[in-house]
Amino acid sequence: MKIARFSHDGSISFGIVDEDALVVLAGDPMFAGFETTGERVPLGKVGALLAPVIPRSKVVAVGKNYRDHAAEMGGEAPGEPLLFLKPNTAVIGLGDAIILPPQSKQVEFEGELAVVIGTIAKNVAAADAHEYIFGYTVANDITARDLQKSDGQWARAKGFDTFCPLGPVIETELNPDAAIRTRVNGELKQDGRISDMVHDVPSIIEYASSVFTLLPGDVVLTGTPAGVGPIVAGDTVEVEIEGVGSLVNPVRAAK
Ligand code: MG
Repeated sequence: MKIARFSHDGSISFGIVDEDALVVLAGDPMFAGFETTGERVPLGKVGALLAPVIPRSKVVAVGKNYRDHAAEMGGEAPGEPLLFLKPNTAVIGLGDAIILPPQSKQVEFEGELAVVIGTIAKNVAAADAHEYIFGYTVANDITARDLQKSDGQWARAKGFDTFCPLGPVIETELNPDAAIRTRVNGELKQDGRISDMVHDVPSIIEYASSVFTLLPGDVVLTGTPAGVGPIVAGDTVEVEIEGVGSLVNPVRAAK
């Protein structure tokens, strides 16, 4: 099931994707269930698909979680998940512009699977992690690579406004071997499989929930495969995960 958050007639609603229409839900399904209003909105009449979730408190992310990416960054994948945070103010949705900050000369894309937490999670065992997952979406862990290196810690490099595109929808099912691909202006840059993660989704939730209480609506980014590279103003970057969707964002310079 695919769940969209969208603007329609001046208000924000949630809907279930049903072929070429959205079945409108009475409320946020994470908190209010799947009661429908009876209304169907053709996808062509939707004002805009919005980021499918605004993280309640945080975006937890894992660095260097694919061996081939760790190698291209000049190291090995860490033995334990390497956690960092992105602020929820970095989140944008499908079609929103990634704004290049003037402080950086090297902003890069990182296509990633995002896990949307559905239930308060603390000290969750990996075997139980699926009970805490609401669904999955596509993320782009935009990174100011030069600042990541010069700062020595990642809050600024990963945390600028617009540096966490999420979307287009939340998919409640996931093929654990789905392909993940990133294209810039249509050219294939990353071509991996989520099954190549060093630490899989249940392990990450176990590890992260031993540190932070994860709240419903929090989002966990699971790392990027090899092939990261720069984006510049005027580019269009697309991250696609098989069965989940395609997240497309233009890139703009700051005004
Ligand atoms: Mg990343």
